[in-house]
Amino acid sequence: MSPSTTPNWPGESRASMALAFDVDGPTGDAMLNGSIWQKPEYFGFGAYDPYRALPRILDLLDAVRIPATFFVPAWVVENWPRQCQAIVERGHEVAYHGYKHESFYALELEEQRQVMEKCREVFWKVLGIRAEGFRTPSGDWHTHTPGMLLDAGVIYSSSMRGDDRPYLVNVAGHSRPLVEIPGHWELDDYASLAYTKGPNFPSGLDRTASYELTLDNWCREFDGAMDEGLCLTTLFHPKITGKPGRLLLLERLFEHMRKRDDVWFATCRDVAHWTLKEHGND
Ligand SMILES: [Zn+2]
Repeated sequence: MSPSTTPNWPGESRASMALAFDVDGPTGDAMLNGSIWQKPEYFGFGAYDPYRALPRILDLLDAVRIPATFFVPAWVVENWPRQCQAIVERGHEVAYHGYKHESFYALELEEQRQVMEKCREVFWKVLGIRAEGFRTPSGDWHTHTPGMLLDAGVIYSSSMRGDDRPYLVNVAGHSRPLVEIPGHWELDDYASLAYTKGPNFPSGLDRTASYELTLDNWCREFDGAMDEGLCLTTLFHPKITGKPGRLLLLERLFEHMRKRDDVWFATCRDVAHWTLKEHGND
């Protein structure tokens, strides 16, 4: 990559690490179709996320002094308010991730607006914040979603896969662009560590990957992205990696990251504001 296409970063930093977790809890397809209310075991698998795993992740982040962004469906904020308030109190960012993890691709524009309005209401009432970020649940959206997000006061999204640098999405009829901070499946803990039954994940119920190999993969992704001066974000889920054995894996990953002194550890919100400023949109 030529230097001209590599982003600039604050101060002496040559790359940026925007650690992010999706705190889905029990929201998702099974809640949207109502089947989760007949599946207490599966509900508990999801509820473990805000109830047990999130506090553990917050303690670890305190210890390693790395800021993070938490994309949280508003239903989770409503039902585990104290755990979600702790994210904000401890200096991290909370951002939008649907109300019950709706697929925005499947919603009409007006339905998307209603979901965002509900999210804004809950975040304001329970957390006292207006979030600036959004990660689309279930991976895709409509062509009119970026404009709807700008209307809802969102300045950035972390939903796409097509680059490893933040970029601007210009939307007709809007004076400000939407910043996109793309993520990658390589940094999604579901790809190597998720395992559930009823519904089955992975669908063939293969075994999870070795923790050693997973750590090695993640460290290599970090090294490669930092060497190229890019912005790396993660699609981690506390209910997958916020368990005692896996926390040790995260601890080693963060130790590896902290060895570098040329990396800007930032929330996605900070990366978005920086990107807007760099492009003369502050
Ligand atoms: Zn999610």
